[in-house]
Amino acid sequence: MSSDRTSSGQISKVGDGLNIAMVSEHASPLACLGGADAGGQNVHVAALSVALARLGHQVVVYTRRTDPTMPKRVVLAPNVLVEQVTAGPAADLPKDELLPHMDAFAVQLARRWRSAPPDLVHAHFWMSGLAATTAAGVCGIPVVQTFHALGTVKRRWQGAADTSPAERIGVERRVARTVDRIIATCTDEVVELSAMGVSPASIDVVPCGVDLDLFTPGRPDAPVRNGNRRRLLALGRLVPRKGVEDVLAALAAIPDAELVVVGGPDPADLATDAAASRLRQVAAENGVSDRTLLLGRVPHSELPELIRSCDVVLAAPWYEPFGIVPLEAMACGVPVVATAVGGMKDTVIEGVTGSLVPPGRPQELAAAVRALLADDRKRIDMGNAGSERVRSNYGWNSIAARTERSYRTVLSERERLAESNGSASSAGSLR
Ligand code: UDP
Repeated sequence: MSSDRTSSGQISKVGDGLNIAMVSEHASPLACLGGADAGGQNVHVAALSVALARLGHQVVVYTRRTDPTMPKRVVLAPNVLVEQVTAGPAADLPKDELLPHMDAFAVQLARRWRSAPPDLVHAHFWMSGLAATTAAGVCGIPVVQTFHALGTVKRRWQGAADTSPAERIGVERRVARTVDRIIATCTDEVVELSAMGVSPASIDVVPCGVDLDLFTPGRPDAPVRNGNRRRLLALGRLVPRKGVEDVLAALAAIPDAELVVVGGPDPADLATDAAASRLRQVAAENGVSDRTLLLGRVPHSELPELIRSCDVVLAAPWYEPFGIVPLEAMACGVPVVATAVGGMKDTVIEGVTGSLVPPGRPQELAAAVRALLADDRKRIDMGNAGSERVRSNYGWNSIAARTERSYRTVLSERERLAESNGSASSAGSLR
């Protein structure tokens, strides 16, 4: 079922590749990473789409249009087209304000899919699931859902600070019941989904991957090291739940180490950015300002060198649906000290590729980091083990192959249902 795309983006089928519609309402594969709403989901959707195309499929990624000067259609890679759908103002809006525009998003999707139906829709995040199930339901197209994050977990950790729309948890339940299959990114998510009443039989676990061509182990080049200080890295969006404040508190108990913090605003806006200012204040309170370097967001392509310049990567979120950064660190041969939450319980092997500590305990974080800094052999062994682990399990090609297996399960099930409905109705007409 693979296909040729005409200049209008219409699809004509040849071979047995699939026409796949990815729906990712807020996380565009074209976005700059590191800002408040642009992180792992953007990486996931982009890399998965490109890897599926390499397997012979045709992918169209539908995302909300946020910039009126951008073309509506952008070719991301051979056989991967990004369609920027008009739904609400063509402006950057926080994702928690997008729900009112999902009806318009669904209308646009249905309009496209009526004339050129994909074989299958893969929706990312709950609002994409809402728009996708609405549009695909009208057109009879199967839907696979990846939540990336769950409202129940966010509510549990953030309480009153959770800015998600009140409808989120109810919509997630509905989407989980409506879709043909769920792809969870870690085993922890299966537990959460089961607690929401979702049957584990309808869930496949396929983790996020890592770009193995970009994130490679290399010599520990330290281009901008500060004398002989050990170097630690915290990398990711500067939202509170990422736990950078805990990392700064831990730094106070890790003598002679400097901390590089990557993520958040464009470096030009670091002085005025609210999240960066908060972290500067926390660094001052912990007496570690002179050992803390906030870099702001760094282009993805520049991260491997930066990661390799560090002795340990710290990932200390309170909760984490998956966490691609620890994989990127392991792929670069750098050990990880991570909190034992979400996807990191699957990806980081305690004592082998890094250390796992409870969330929200800076002293335990500091102790784990000190132990690693004191043992060069252990760090090297862990770096090697991490790199091997990631290379064997988390390349996007194998993640795409596993994702494709889920798609095929869904399509066979639909076919089986259509056949049994067909035989039921022909039996009926004989009666
Ligand atoms: N990232 C980046 N530049 C930055 C900050 C983050 O390229 O300045 C990337 C990072 O390398 C990773 C992604 O953003 O690929 C963050 O994904 P993760 O799953 O760790 O966290 P999320 O943002 O999804 O919570």
